[in-house]
Amino acid sequence: MIDMEKLEREVPVTGSLRRAEEVSWINPRLERAKDALEKIRLTMKDVEEADARLRRFAPFIAKAFPGTESAGGIIESPLREIPRMKEALNRAHGARLQGRLLLKMDSELAVAGSVKARGGIYEILEHAENLALQEGVIREGENYEAFAEPRMRAFFSNYAVHVGSTGNLGLSIGIISAALGFRVSVHMSQDAKQWKKDLLRSKGVRVVEYAGDYGEAVKNGRAEAQKDPKGYFVDDENSVSLFLGYAVAALRLRRQLEEADVPVDEEHPLFVCIPCGVGGAPGGITFGLKLVYGDSAHVFYAEPVQACCMLLGIATGLHDGICVQDIGLTGLTEADGLAVGRPSKFVGKTVEHLLAGEFTVEDDALYSYMKELLDTEGFFIEPSSCAAFAGPERIEREEVCRAYTEAHGLADRMGQASHIVWATGGSLVPQSVREEFLGRAPE
Ligand SMILES: *Cc1c(COP(=O)(O)O)cnc(C)c1O
Repeated sequence: MIDMEKLEREVPVTGSLRRAEEVSWINPRLERAKDALEKIRLTMKDVEEADARLRRFAPFIAKAFPGTESAGGIIESPLREIPRMKEALNRAHGARLQGRLLLKMDSELAVAGSVKARGGIYEILEHAENLALQEGVIREGENYEAFAEPRMRAFFSNYAVHVGSTGNLGLSIGIISAALGFRVSVHMSQDAKQWKKDLLRSKGVRVVEYAGDYGEAVKNGRAEAQKDPKGYFVDDENSVSLFLGYAVAALRLRRQLEEADVPVDEEHPLFVCIPCGVGGAPGGITFGLKLVYGDSAHVFYAEPVQACCMLLGIATGLHDGICVQDIGLTGLTEADGLAVGRPSKFVGKTVEHLLAGEFTVEDDALYSYMKELLDTEGFFIEPSSCAAFAGPERIEREEVCRAYTEAHGLADRMGQASHIVWATGGSLVPQSVREEFLGRAPE
């Protein structure tokens, strides 16, 4: 049992979290990037190796997913400046945002339509490569277009993949595993949307449904995989592979920012806000960004007020030793991609000195952001993604945030700053579901 009074005395923010208030929190554990990165056993070399693996597989991806052909089989999303949304944040939300506002559109990522196309696909490709090399069905240096051949599908049909998911990770793992020929089971929590289950089944993926939350789906997926000697479990909470797949995003973003003439340095700070569930996606991206930009990158997460597990884990230092239900929250949210009650300890420990802070967001705000973005810029992103707008909305408006920028010597540089909202999902959401979402936005 958690002694709430004691916890609140020691970590005051837990009081606001417990009351499900919207919180803007600055991470007191943030350190200089150099010091923080030295404590992490992963390095830039690991991220570069992940990038190289994705390049090796590009010929296969281009062949298996024709939509990626024009990009040479590299799954990457656009970066767009959204000045009209910036105006809307300033006008309707009193944001006072001075710098440029950009949208990193992982909502449009090929194959899986969400940020999970990064980590999820990467991990399955790594697993497939390991198996194929081990068993000698592919040689080092061979063109990986060979992974699209029927003999490879026959080979992988001997192996099973399992994953627990609130939806999007299942989509990503299910689609790529099925494309390679694996027998794949996706264990879905109660939060998972029906259309995601339908889409997976249409691709020959086995979908197992649970009445419980994400934790239960993960537990069952893991147990099934362990029973099968040829089973592999994608462990969202502890996977280094997923994490590195996500981290590659930073290398790609660096190129995109250069191409867009957006400077990032001491004079031109970069603020990035990323929606957070169990932590893998935002964690990996954070690690990559801090490797690339060091102290010039200021990375914040956004979580639903009822599922603020990463903030709770990092602020208390308890990581996966505490869950949102322990402080009386439900863990339930419309933001299905973020409906996680207990954070990843691996991610929390890895990013606890890299993360600048967090914002918690009420579900209603997600729908307003969603509608505003569609009205002003014509982009649809899913509600989970929209949590990230809390960053640019509050960074120059809230006093605790202004104290942060002042402490970092940025007070007079905010006009030169760039703000990236990481749009984590959207393109696969069916039209009927989009309309239902839009119906919930305030007029
Ligand atoms: C999974 C997901 C996230 C968060 O990723 P985690 O690795 O769970 O933290 C954010 N947005 C969307 C749309 C997602 O599907």
